[in-house]
Amino acid sequence: MKRYSVKPGSRIDLSTYDPKDKSTFADGKKEAKKRLIELNQEMGALQELLYAEHKHKILIVLQAMDTGGKDGTIRHVFEGVNPQGVRVVSFKVPTPEELDHDYIWRVHKQTPAKGEVVIFNRSHYEDVLVVRVHQLVPEEVWSKRYKQINEFEHMLVEEGTTILKFFLHISPEEQKARLQARLEEPSKHWKFNLDDLKERKLWPQYMQAYQDVLNQTSTEWAPWYIVPADRKWYRNLVIARLIVETLEGLKMKYPQGEAALDQVVIE
Ligand code: AMP
Ligand code: MG
Repeated sequence: MKRYSVKPGSRIDLSTYDPKDKSTFADGKKEAKKRLIELNQEMGALQELLYAEHKHKILIVLQAMDTGGKDGTIRHVFEGVNPQGVRVVSFKVPTPEELDHDYIWRVHKQTPAKGEVVIFNRSHYEDVLVVRVHQLVPEEVWSKRYKQINEFEHMLVEEGTTILKFFLHISPEEQKARLQARLEEPSKHWKFNLDDLKERKLWPQYMQAYQDVLNQTSTEWAPWYIVPADRKWYRNLVIARLIVETLEGLKMKYPQGEAALDQVVIE
């Protein structure tokens, strides 16, 4: 899975990454769905261990263009994980109070505590994505943020957080198909936002902004993964594998019970 990680300090060209790639799983969609169920179970067990050990903090950042699959990822990848152990935080347009603070303020309040998994549905990266593309602050302000974000994340990691960042990479053609499907299905109209069409017109600007994010903020301590996301089953599989591998790598252990539990008699 190293294949999808962005090497720190590298200069990737996003246009060379294929959103339809499925090269790490040869057995097709049906088998992938079976494999995902196994991974869901493994993740469930690892999450319980994480909670019991009460040591590590897990932060998962999801970024994507509209229809990129952030919601679907949360629904499918975390199936089987105890809802008590995960928290999803969605970052929307900042409130006036949030705008009066620095952009990390609302984010820092939501970072995971010991034993907790937190999923960011959008994140502080919006402050160098939508904010940059729409020039909501001048360049001299947003251009300093890559370094600030790296330092913020470094602090979190030094304090016991494990950070995984996923860019769900879809093609503009796939976005068109997904928007079209929403239009054609009345039960999906609530998801259709006319503003999404305006954002879609800015696709090249967004890709440039994403490319800069990937190049400037994939670090040894908080790597970015570019997940091919035109195929939902493949996207889910790649993300689930990376999370399970990362959690296994923490070598967590159940804490010892109180001394002499073997002597206890329950009357
Ligand atoms: P959605 O995820 O579709 O519910 O939409 C949330 C909206 O909030 C998206 O259009 C984001 O671009 C926008 N958003 C999130 N964070 C920020 C931010 N820091 N500044 C401006 N807009 C933001
Ligand atoms: Mg939207």
